[in-house]
Amino acid sequence: MEETNDFISTFIKEDLSKGRFDTVRTRFPPEPNGWLHIGHCKALMVDFSMAQRFNGMCNLRFDDTNPAKEDSAYVEAIKRDIQWLGFEWADREFYASDYYEYLYNLAIVIIKKGKAYVDDLPEEEMSRLRGTSDPDKHETLPGQNSPFRDRSIEENLDLFAKMRAGAFPDGTKTLRAKINMADPNLLMRDPVMYRIRREAHYRTGDTWCIYPMYDFAHPLSDAKEKITHSLCSLEYEIHRPLYDWFIREAEVFPSQQIEFARLNITQTVLSKRYLLRLVTEKYVSGWDDPRLPTLSGLRRRGYTPESIHDFINRIGLAKVDSTVDIALLEHCLLQDLNKRCNRVMAVIRPLKLIIENWIPETVETLTAINNPEDESAGTRPLSFSRELWIERDDFAENPPPKYFRLFPGNSVRLRYAYIVTCTGFDKDPSTGEITAVRCTYDPATKGGNAADNRKVKGTIHWVSATSALKIETRLYDYLFKMEKPMDVGEGKTFLDNINPNSLEVIPEAYAEICLAAAVPGDRYQFERLGYFIRDPDTGSDGKPVFNRTIGLRDTWAKIDKAQK
Ligand code: ATP
Ligand code: MG
Repeated sequence: MEETNDFISTFIKEDLSKGRFDTVRTRFPPEPNGWLHIGHCKALMVDFSMAQRFNGMCNLRFDDTNPAKEDSAYVEAIKRDIQWLGFEWADREFYASDYYEYLYNLAIVIIKKGKAYVDDLPEEEMSRLRGTSDPDKHETLPGQNSPFRDRSIEENLDLFAKMRAGAFPDGTKTLRAKINMADPNLLMRDPVMYRIRREAHYRTGDTWCIYPMYDFAHPLSDAKEKITHSLCSLEYEIHRPLYDWFIREAEVFPSQQIEFARLNITQTVLSKRYLLRLVTEKYVSGWDDPRLPTLSGLRRRGYTPESIHDFINRIGLAKVDSTVDIALLEHCLLQDLNKRCNRVMAVIRPLKLIIENWIPETVETLTAINNPEDESAGTRPLSFSRELWIERDDFAENPPPKYFRLFPGNSVRLRYAYIVTCTGFDKDPSTGEITAVRCTYDPATKGGNAADNRKVKGTIHWVSATSALKIETRLYDYLFKMEKPMDVGEGKTFLDNINPNSLEVIPEAYAEICLAAAVPGDRYQFERLGYFIRDPDTGSDGKPVFNRTIGLRDTWAKIDKAQK
């Protein structure tokens, strides 16, 4: 984050000036139960940049206290994505599951103070006694104490030890904090600290049959690492009193929680729970599907780490949740790609163009500029021949008004080559399909140099049919049809808002032969079509696959103007 006068920096500066802490330690705490998305990237950048700004440290801590959903494959994916974004955590890699013994001992400290008890209530009964919000009266009804709330400290210590030792079946007992069953904040009504669950953990195996709850484990893990500022998204605000309660009662390092606005983006969902459904129910090909807002999906789509950093910097921190227009993210991407990508020509909906006055079999080599934004990118040779591929859209038998491309009698420039004039076309009599367009070229117009004084209104791209590389292209649209996919009508879910046409595969397109050298991850601008990236997949007959990252139109400026 580049700004330095945001509310978190102000908070930290005050802590340092008052001597509350003498250094700054933050942490990024992903739960390894899914892959990171761009919302996590905001958290990551806040955590790492605050530490950096104040010469502190940022830990990477896997918050892995729920054995049911976590896995080392997620740990690996998360680390890969953080590295891709350019953040370094060196040896500061930690796991909440390494703290199980420490956490267990702190639970005993709290029991010994008479501030925690073992409860025998079944789950449903516990939640009934917790009381609920009364939607009619707009108030929260008080809860009721559990009949087990006043067990003696000795009995609690004994039962808790037995819970750990495996003396009780799953779900038959919990350890609860003894706080206040009438607190208006439901989270403070004697929250559960430990539950019994015989489930193997991906790191600790069967060592434990009791597992700590997030609200207990998180603050105390922060304290263990001497985290000074535990930065998290706004939905944790109501957990803060509980965070402080556990820190105080366990008498540990006074870590403190600060919340910032959660990132939401239009046309997509930023929640692991929903992303997991899209993946497991096969609405997409996997966590790295180029339509997902996961970092691996964005990477495969062709996003650069720089464009994501730029986006997060521009949206800033904010204390209120809001939804950012996806056009801003795309704008950041377009700006970055424009600078870095070489231009090439490719034709994705091919139609044959035959130059009737070109001597058959002759091939001419022309010169194309690689990147008009970057002179050092140089030039490349292009083969020009009698038969070329052009886009089907660039020819019209009956042109609509203001159509400046090819139609009978009209002239266009072929990019980097000659001006051609359409002389006719071939049509399949049975289907009515146009099978080729015919034209003549003007030898005096080569290259579009200053000497050429013939002005034509249209320039179209092309690929020589004699030296084209066959490629597969995948064109993407938004995965959801509407701006806010979570806005759903009665009896519907966000899955009903899925766009059925979010992926169009074009199994055979043609590109300049120089693309044969592209390796997965290489990016190009296909002139007039957009930015594309070479995918790791190969298509039929070993054809290289290119994903369209984004089209060329930048819609942000218009939206930005309207918002001002
Ligand atoms: P989700 O709730 O979206 O499924 P999560 O919050 O459960 O994700 P965690 O692994 O618990 O995922 O999150 C790690 C960190 O990322 C937390 O500090 C959380 O506050 C932050 N975070 C998650 N989603 C966002 C978001 N959309 N914007 C900003 N920060 C986020
Ligand atoms: Mg969470």
